[in-house]
Amino acid sequence: MEQIVSRIVQRDPEQKEFHQAVHEVLETVRPVLERNPEFRKQAVLERVVEPERVLMFRVPWMDDQGQVHVNRGFRVEMNSAIGPYKGGLRFHPSVSLSIIKFLAFEQVFKNSLTTLHMGGGKGGSDFDPKGRSDAEVMRFCQAFMAELFRHIGPNTDVPAGDIGVGGREIGYLFGMYKKLRNEFTGVLTGKSLAWGGSLIRPEATGYGVVYFAAEMLATRGDRLEGKNCLVSGSGNVAQFTTEKILEMGGRVLTLSDSSGYIFDEEGIDHEKLNHVKEIKNIRRGRIREYCQRYPAAVYVEADPDLEYNPLWTHRADCAFPSATQNEINARDAQTMVENGVFLVCEGANMPSAPSAVEVFVEQKILYGPGKAANAGGVAVSGLEMAQNSMRLNWPRAEVDERLQQIMKCIHKTCVDASAEYGMEGNYVAGANIAGFVNVVNAMLDQGLV
Ligand code: GLU
Repeated sequence: MEQIVSRIVQRDPEQKEFHQAVHEVLETVRPVLERNPEFRKQAVLERVVEPERVLMFRVPWMDDQGQVHVNRGFRVEMNSAIGPYKGGLRFHPSVSLSIIKFLAFEQVFKNSLTTLHMGGGKGGSDFDPKGRSDAEVMRFCQAFMAELFRHIGPNTDVPAGDIGVGGREIGYLFGMYKKLRNEFTGVLTGKSLAWGGSLIRPEATGYGVVYFAAEMLATRGDRLEGKNCLVSGSGNVAQFTTEKILEMGGRVLTLSDSSGYIFDEEGIDHEKLNHVKEIKNIRRGRIREYCQRYPAAVYVEADPDLEYNPLWTHRADCAFPSATQNEINARDAQTMVENGVFLVCEGANMPSAPSAVEVFVEQKILYGPGKAANAGGVAVSGLEMAQNSMRLNWPRAEVDERLQQIMKCIHKTCVDASAEYGMEGNYVAGANIAGFVNVVNAMLDQGLV
């Protein structure tokens, strides 16, 4: 196993995030390989860490001043053992091959946990949508799809949103795909309701995270009601996580963006959350604007020189990291546990650094890793694909009910898999083992391809 990790490090020394994601999975599936010598003989580990296909392409586009820019586009088609490649697109200046490979790798196991037939993939670009006009975003999306369209399809690879890609971007991407292919198909998910989208898809990741947290709490006879919660991020996941926490009677004290965070001791209620939605989704502004309307709240500017994230220093019961990868380090994790946090449920992908995960697992708090806890988003994407195939729309209550069932089932799968290998209560091990076994069995059934 060490050999495999050192080989990927040697091959692609700069892909730090990818190494991190692989290392975490390989460490926890060790007992599975010990029990199944066939897995080793068939070199399954070597196969799952190598993407089936990696696409990198030039994206040239013109800004409103007539200046030409060139960005880099990516799509990593990681694994198609259990279904067409499925996973979001991320538009953010930090996007690199390492980031997309780590996300695609995580996506393979996450999608497998949903029980739906979706393989794993991820894509995106280092394009920075911040401060860009609608027209610029449209031209970028069209240029991006002008290459991507030849690689994707409803039975091949079905992208969706992620950081920097929401309803607006999916619309522009879909329009260009349809024009180039002359085909109206469910090639993207997260579409608008009026042209093939699913009810509950916008809410799904955040709602799913909270359903998962409720399941974890139930194992200790507890519930969300009355709990003080820290939420990071203020995008789609953070917004709907907050909404569902409030519905379940919890209190939300914080939200953040890349510039800083707000702390509202009185709690962010439904009305304040609507204001956040307006700031973020309509005005595309900054979270600091929250304090203009609610001056009792404090805004703390992000300080890149700080060795810890002050958002995680507030006293609370539960934490829902919903911003981005590696937003919690070991020091943050230690502080959280000391300040009363006994549940961490990840809305973002890999928000906890490996040393932070170690703290959570050693201290035996309820820790739901992203690939299990935030799988509700892609699960409802799978339901959107199903509805598209049938050319039907399910009512809101039906999609929500299915989402709740799927999150319950993922929780139980994690609990059972960790128990089977003598690691009761370890959701990291449970999620990795269950996700991995599913995918690997499918790969073995299909022979050496
Ligand atoms: N980007 C989301 C995730 O990390 C959703 C992907 C999808 O819906 O395909 O799972």
